[in-house]
Amino acid sequence: MVEWSVSHETRRIVIIGGGFAGASLARALGRRLPQGWEVLLLSDENHFVFTPLLAEVVGASIDPLHVVWAVREMAPVASCRSMPVQAIDLERREVVCVCDSGEEVRERWDHLVIACGMTVKLDLVPGMAEHAWPLKTLGDALALRNHVIQQLEHAEAEPHPERRKQLLSFAIVGGGFTGIELAGAVMDLLVDASRFYKRFSREDIRVSVVEGGPRILAPLPESLSRYADKVLKGMGVQVLTGKTVSEIHAAGITLGDGELVPAATTITAIGNAAQPLLADSPLETERGRLVVTPEMRVKGHENVWALGDCAAVPNAFDGTTSPTLGQFAIRQADQLARNLAAIANGGSAEPFHYHMKGMFAAIGNGRAVGNPFGIRLSGPAAYFMWRAIYLAKMPSISRQLQIAFDWFWDLFFPRDIVEISTLRTGRPVENAANRENSAS
Ligand SMILES: Cc1cc2nc3c(=O)[nH]c(=O)nc-3n(C[C@H](O)[C@H](O)[C@H](O)COP(=O)(O)OP(=O)(O)OC[C@H]3O[C@@H](n4cnc5c(N)ncnc54)[C@H](O)[C@@H]3O)c2cc1C
Repeated sequence: MVEWSVSHETRRIVIIGGGFAGASLARALGRRLPQGWEVLLLSDENHFVFTPLLAEVVGASIDPLHVVWAVREMAPVASCRSMPVQAIDLERREVVCVCDSGEEVRERWDHLVIACGMTVKLDLVPGMAEHAWPLKTLGDALALRNHVIQQLEHAEAEPHPERRKQLLSFAIVGGGFTGIELAGAVMDLLVDASRFYKRFSREDIRVSVVEGGPRILAPLPESLSRYADKVLKGMGVQVLTGKTVSEIHAAGITLGDGELVPAATTITAIGNAAQPLLADSPLETERGRLVVTPEMRVKGHENVWALGDCAAVPNAFDGTTSPTLGQFAIRQADQLARNLAAIANGGSAEPFHYHMKGMFAAIGNGRAVGNPFGIRLSGPAAYFMWRAIYLAKMPSISRQLQIAFDWFWDLFFPRDIVEISTLRTGRPVENAANRENSAS
């Protein structure tokens, strides 16, 4: 067992998680903490992922590396280590990690911030874990992008027209923001790419969205849901609302009423579950999220804090619980940075308070819907605004320029349908494993 040498004079804030909440907090604390305080960020990946643009990575309209940023570049004042936290020792005020060699590493904290997000719930429906593709990480987006392109290649090589159609069928479970953005992005990619293939046309492509509620994009006003529904149907997407999914299998989805939605590829865009770290901890949770005070203190623990998706943070603005959204995680990080800086300077913490400015969803074919400041917007103007907002939210000027260039490129040139191969020369065992992974 190794203990990192830290002077016990130094007061230490340890953050678990390098996502919207953790990385934004580490960045904001860098500017605020007084002398004698240090920040250590532990995350299982070395980068922050800008999840709102993951659907565009799947749709091959953005370079995958442009939606991520190394956490140590984002928060240069913090010490960052890429290693998953295995356990939280509340009594000894330590977190327990395991480093690459397998040795246990314990990190001391004076204040602990839990910002580990949530994971995708894959046991909601029989067959989901085995057959559905999740979209949460950069790895998920890259694998899915590659898989969609592979399906086009397999369809081109397939001699039987019926099997070809089956290969070209895709279904998305969930008509919320992620599901609808994915449906639009996948359809755009398939339609754009189909002109380079000789054995099938866009008529052979099938993309379906299955939503359990009465309408898609339910948090938006009804007129915007109707507009999105109409645009998607116009693009050829089958939108099924009020339908429950009873099973997912290799050939598609069986609905509650027995109907079969054919799909060689099913993507899930529903359901969050607690990270294993929290599922196994004694800290109190409510629907998988940590119970915290309005100041973001974990209930019953003076020096333990939580924010982002993993915490049910009460919003003092309207008394509701914060939703699992990046825009809330960023604002919570800002408030918590102020709270911790105030405590470091002998002050006290303030409650989280945020008035949401609205939401946008890109629906494909250069269109979006949104309600910024309560104003209903739809169509190409909304799409332009959606892009401008996300561009402004990217955490660095270099990434903003790269994404702007990707979108500008997209206006004049076909999107990139190169399958990113991970096959390496002269490593037969690894290559066979790679082929197996990409086939499963
Ligand atoms: C496809 C998609 C699209 C989205 N679009 C939008 C959108 O348009 N607008 C919006 O506001 N929100 C959007 N969201 C939601 C948004 O991504 C989340 O609300 C946000 O990421 C929450 O931030 P977080 O830091 O709490 O969690 P995350 O961003 O999930 O970060 C958690 C971090 O903790 C790390 N971690 C987990 N367990 C451990 C462990 N044991 N040890 C160390 N590190 C650990 C993870 O690797 C990760 O770095 C979208 C989400 C998805 C999946």
